[in-house]
Amino acid sequence: MADDKSTLEKILEHNREFVDSKEYDHLCTDKYPNKELAILTCMDARIVELLPKAMGIRNGDAKIIKNAGALISHPWGAVMRSLLVAALEFNVKEIMVVGHTDCGMRGFDPEHLLDKARKFGITDGTITTLRNAGIDLDGWLRGFDNVGDSVRYTVDQIRNHPLMPGRVVVHGLVIHPTTGKLHTVVNGYVENVNLLETPNGASSNNLVEENND
Ligand SMILES: [Zn+2]
Repeated sequence: MADDKSTLEKILEHNREFVDSKEYDHLCTDKYPNKELAILTCMDARIVELLPKAMGIRNGDAKIIKNAGALISHPWGAVMRSLLVAALEFNVKEIMVVGHTDCGMRGFDPEHLLDKARKFGITDGTITTLRNAGIDLDGWLRGFDNVGDSVRYTVDQIRNHPLMPGRVVVHGLVIHPTTGKLHTVVNGYVENVNLLETPNGASSNNLVEENND
């Protein structure tokens, strides 16, 4: 019978046990991150537990913002807004952009996603209407070719944002989605990147994306 339960039912059942047994007790903290740190990373399910453990992040240590690919798709979008709120309101003094190898957004083709949407009943007419309305679907849905370049580009976007205080140090890292090993792309303490390059541009980092071992 247990297998007949929906995901929601299973989660609510677990939640009742969690709260009743006060498992939250050792997780209590406040909203100001202890490490004065914000992390922008990918929504990949492999790093849900792996990333905090591999980085030594405990509950209360950091603001963590996640999306597909650890990307900032728009300078005035929700990710940048969250990072600004973290920096301006919650004492965040360092930001870490953490991409990962074997990311689903590497080589991601917006047209492929739109084809999937069509298969679920979204019409060509809808897609054409959106494009005619000036919505840059391809840019908005775009992934990246090289995770190191993408992380560096995102670090640049954060550093160069007109509302981001200069005192905030921005680092760029790539995590291995199995071992949790970190590779530093941008050390914000020593490197000051001012040039905005395209994420598909020439790379100065030596990360071998194909090597996922
Ligand atoms: Zn990813």
